[in-house]
Amino acid sequence: MTTPDAPALPLRPELADQVPYGAPQLDVPVLLNVNENPYPPSEEVVAGIAAGVADAARTLNRYPDRDFPALRQDLADYLAVESGVRVAPEQVWAANGSNEVMLHLLQAFGGPGRTALSFAPTYSMYPEYARDTHTRWVTGRRAEDFTIDATTAVATIEAEQPSVILLASPNNPTGTALPRATLEVVLEAAARIPAVVVVDEAYAEFRRAGTPSALELVDTYPHLAVTRTMSKAFAAAGLRLGYLAASAPLVDALRVVRLPYHLSAVTQAAARAALSYRDVLLAQVADLRAQRDALVAWLRRQHSAGRPVQVAESDANFVLFGTFADRHAVWQGLLDRGVLIRETGPDGWLRVSVGTREETQAFQDALTDVIAEQEQG
Ligand SMILES: *Cc1c(COP(=O)(O)O)cnc(C)c1O
Repeated sequence: MTTPDAPALPLRPELADQVPYGAPQLDVPVLLNVNENPYPPSEEVVAGIAAGVADAARTLNRYPDRDFPALRQDLADYLAVESGVRVAPEQVWAANGSNEVMLHLLQAFGGPGRTALSFAPTYSMYPEYARDTHTRWVTGRRAEDFTIDATTAVATIEAEQPSVILLASPNNPTGTALPRATLEVVLEAAARIPAVVVVDEAYAEFRRAGTPSALELVDTYPHLAVTRTMSKAFAAAGLRLGYLAASAPLVDALRVVRLPYHLSAVTQAAARAALSYRDVLLAQVADLRAQRDALVAWLRRQHSAGRPVQVAESDANFVLFGTFADRHAVWQGLLDRGVLIRETGPDGWLRVSVGTREETQAFQDALTDVIAEQEQG
């Protein structure tokens, strides 16, 4: 509130009506709203991370390594195991969550007079990175089934002349993966602008067999950046560690815009310790994938208002389903039964994360109830 003698704050006009980003966090028994891995780290992992952090604490009087070569090496090793693609540590970059990695990308390759392009519906944070870096934000449209049509994509790229193209694969909130052929067409069109193509693979570890990773193209296309995170499959959302693989010149550009010492010694140590337990931390991924496929099949057998429930193809640890005439009523009905999901995506759709088997069952029971209640009402 402004009082007569308090001067107004010189807020950037484009921020005037904005609120901070955040999914509603409510205290209910079943949390299936932000695509976390539902399994907390074991005591063995906790002890390992604590020991790594204790070591880092012994030198906290010093600034951390600005270029964190040891962590970049560990991340490169992890990517080699996960995807079969070996990149050099100089081709890896990391920051406090892939959110910050994206910000670095837009700071280096976006900016005033420049355009960032994505295809809607997609991750709701992207326009915020664009806003915060004074980059013009444009979205093309995805097809009915949430895939990206290559011809439309090229036409949009040529019309809008972006310097950054953001493609989430698997996409959030739809779960849709980007086929290799489409990505290659986009990469070729982007090279002619030129634009940097960012493939956001936050959910890559959940992809179905046969779905490739864009990492396979990093050595062919110097303008491709593939971002990853430890927040989802890796069961370390609280760690805040995101990273990318790209050509060494692209990574060097990010080193220019990062704040000095952006990755604390504590974060570096905790991330390295967590990576050393990758087998334990990723142990539930196969189970979550199987549960995801079972949940998609179950949802497709459900009916609402006389129509089968539609479900988007998912390569992620969440499922987008709908459509409901009043999706908010369905969301609220689930919440009343102790299950929090996400009211996001195109009109009428809802997104649910895959939880533990008990949590997924609780969601299914609650949804059955809510739909039955609506049919009666
Ligand atoms: C969750 C998510 C991320 C991860 O963000 P972090 O900052 O690494 O936690 C990135 N991209 C998409 C599309 C996501 O859904």
